[in-house]
Amino acid sequence: MEATTEREPRTAGIVGAGTMGAGIALAFAGAGIDVMLVDADAAALERARGTIAAACDAQVARGKLTAGEASARVARIVRATDFAALAPVDVAIEAVFEDMAVKCDVFVRLGEVCRPAAMLATNTSSLDVDAIARAAPHPERTLGLHFFSPAHVMRLVEVVRGAATSAATLDAAVALARRLGKIPVVVGNADGFVGNRMLLAYKREAEFAVLAGATPARVDAALQAFGFAMGPFAVSDLAGIDVGWRAKRERIARGAAPPFAVSDLPDAFVAAGRLGQKSGAGYYRYEPGSRTPLADPAADALVAAERARAGTRPRAMGDEEIVERCVLALVNEGARLLSAGIAASAADVDTIWVNGYGFPRDRGGPMRYAESLGLAPVLARIEAFAREDPAFWTPAPALTAAAARGRFDPA
Ligand code: NAD
Repeated sequence: MEATTEREPRTAGIVGAGTMGAGIALAFAGAGIDVMLVDADAAALERARGTIAAACDAQVARGKLTAGEASARVARIVRATDFAALAPVDVAIEAVFEDMAVKCDVFVRLGEVCRPAAMLATNTSSLDVDAIARAAPHPERTLGLHFFSPAHVMRLVEVVRGAATSAATLDAAVALARRLGKIPVVVGNADGFVGNRMLLAYKREAEFAVLAGATPARVDAALQAFGFAMGPFAVSDLAGIDVGWRAKRERIARGAAPPFAVSDLPDAFVAAGRLGQKSGAGYYRYEPGSRTPLADPAADALVAAERARAGTRPRAMGDEEIVERCVLALVNEGARLLSAGIAASAADVDTIWVNGYGFPRDRGGPMRYAESLGLAPVLARIEAFAREDPAFWTPAPALTAAAARGRFDPA
């Protein structure tokens, strides 16, 4: 059935009323689309009600919404524990736990209750969209819609094209994301899609810089001076070091670990119970109730122990080398995604990194920045790194080809 373009979505179903589901519900309500928010857990629905009301109140306080608009927005979101509430929706977005079996079960049930024309989307950040789509009755109208947190604020949406997703479904998803005021970028279905896949390479290199001799604070300061709003270690402390660590464990368990060595630095911090801001200490320590990162000798000791375990002798590493390694890791991984057809263009990669990951906007994005340095010297630096560590640094075919042309995308 070729549908999903038959009419403008009037009603959206959102399954899972956690952090993401509540934010996605707000994004739809803000665009004037009615929402059925479904969660198996009534307490989660009640918490989402509070989160949604608080977010609307905050916008009223900032003068962005009138009290009347805020209450209309809240009233658009109807909560239910029964999937039957999803019968009338034009689009359903799944935002339940990041667990393949749970997601497949949800898609089987969506297939049973939703209209045959409804678009079915998963908000997974790392699971295989095709495997999820196979659980749905109509894989051609199934795809990924990867929102970023907080979903009612962050504008980037990765629109993940599954192997069976029809062109009409893809077009409808892009139009829908625009209607929500988002910036949609169509990407292929690969582990981590585009943004999170590049993030792995970036964080890997930041961690190796620490094992080589830089401190987390030095790496963060160098990348902030380059223009990132926050450095990677401060971001990990904010998000929870265990989040990336759990994703890494899960990747290893399903045989999808990246083909290059990654550091065990986060593992050491998780094992020590230092999960980041939520546990009062991670790569930095935090005073109760404060988000200000403070130096901590206990963190330095963990880093020193991890260097000893990895057998690295610390050396001095300047800011320039820190930035070069972390940013060129992004560039080469972005080029790998271009080579594999997961990203359609360097401009798409840049849009994702500027709008979803805080890459300095005035530098245009990692690919544009590499072009501004000159792709031939960038390739030469990456080739030099590859002599030490070929598994990670071997230049992507798209980078080698672009260096000959002087730019990534055709004019
Ligand atoms: P969460 O744990 O906050 O919420 C998940 C909700 O799903 C819970 O309320 C739970 O009760 C509900 N649920 C679980 N199984 C269910 C089922 N079978 N039927 C109905 N409801 C069910 O999770 P989250 O952080 O909101 O993440 C949701 C999804 O979004 C995950 O796939 C995650 O990878 C993805 N994601 C998260 C982020 C983020 O920053 N948190 C960003 C992008 C994508």
